[in-house]
Amino acid sequence: MSSSRYLIIAILFAWAMTISPALGHALSHSDARPWAVSPKHQTRQHTSPPAREASPKNNAIPIKTAGLFALGLLLLIIFRNKKHKTLHLGFVCLVGIAAANCTTTANLTNLTDTVSDTITSQIETMQAAFSRYTGVTTFYDANYFYVESNGLPEHNIMVGITTWNDQLPAPQHYIQENAWPIPLNTEYASTPMAIDSNNFRRGAIGIAVNGIPIFNPYNASGLISYDIGELDEFGGHTGRGDDYHYHISPRHLDNPSTPTILAYALDGYPIYGEIEPDGATMTARDSYAGHEYQGSYHYHYGQSDAAPYLVAFRGNVAVEGSAPETQVTPQPRSQSPRGEHPYSINATNLLITGSTKHQDGHGYTINYRDNNQSASVTYTWTDADVFTYTFHDVDPVRTVTQTFTRILR
Ligand SMILES: [Zn+2]
Ligand SMILES: [Zn+2]
Repeated sequence: MSSSRYLIIAILFAWAMTISPALGHALSHSDARPWAVSPKHQTRQHTSPPAREASPKNNAIPIKTAGLFALGLLLLIIFRNKKHKTLHLGFVCLVGIAAANCTTTANLTNLTDTVSDTITSQIETMQAAFSRYTGVTTFYDANYFYVESNGLPEHNIMVGITTWNDQLPAPQHYIQENAWPIPLNTEYASTPMAIDSNNFRRGAIGIAVNGIPIFNPYNASGLISYDIGELDEFGGHTGRGDDYHYHISPRHLDNPSTPTILAYALDGYPIYGEIEPDGATMTARDSYAGHEYQGSYHYHYGQSDAAPYLVAFRGNVAVEGSAPETQVTPQPRSQSPRGEHPYSINATNLLITGSTKHQDGHGYTINYRDNNQSASVTYTWTDADVFTYTFHDVDPVRTVTQTFTRILR
């Protein structure tokens, strides 16, 4: 083959690599950026913590690689022939290729910016929403925005409860691969799934901006938690995993004079309080307690403890289990330090009257009335997950101390 044919092949190759956005785009996304994978097909099987930041934009890299490859071929031709005419021609071609390379790279960058601007602005909104609370941290990858917390709120807990399962809020390890995942690429469900007594009785349906999960208003038994005295003055209580969570709108997180995101549903849509994102008073909601507003969908929690709460997932969610014991997946695990059979307080005419978080943030004292007598439980924990509980029980009168080391499953 003559040198001019090598030259033509090299130029054609460089031209194809630099001028074709589809080819360049496909190549630049072929490594470690599975943008096209739908969240509903994802399972949480991380062997290492998810990336803390999205990959940098790198569209230009394969194009430059192609340019360098073409340069290599040209140099090969030049040194094989050692003719000034070829050297001259090769130089002119290189300048041409470089010009095409610059133009095409600029176009591709603009294309990528347009695509990712929506996600970037979504992520910025999420970061702002969760940054309002200390102890809550976030990170993201291509498919999810992740929320980390220890599952304990800044506010008082458990006060006002009259129906108690004897569970006591413990810090949870909602971190790294066990963080709360919020999908970034939400799409409308063709048939939105209702959040009611027939579905989603297990696990959370959303995550509040203070790092506390929100459950179905219906508890695991299919009863409305709020109606049967299970909830404290903030709408929360503790589950079998000694995991604190809300069952109604966390409206204490709302600022009724400014647009406020209270939570994100696990389908990826934000839940606002009374005010629209642009400052207007809340407009009419659809039958899913949300609406499309200025081009994007969100829900609203009203300023009432009464229903309706979040009533359905407008977006796609993946579900595991069989109804009514279904739950959204993926979501983190919670785990009681005390195993399956915690100490039974078994109070009658119960009222939890007070709770105090210890100064060092590593314990609570909870006061309650058992058949009109004052009783309490004090418990502490260490960073190594050693929990010590002291029950000052009144029926019968006794003090019981228990110590547990939580081994994470
Ligand atoms: Zn509950
Ligand atoms: Zn709205």
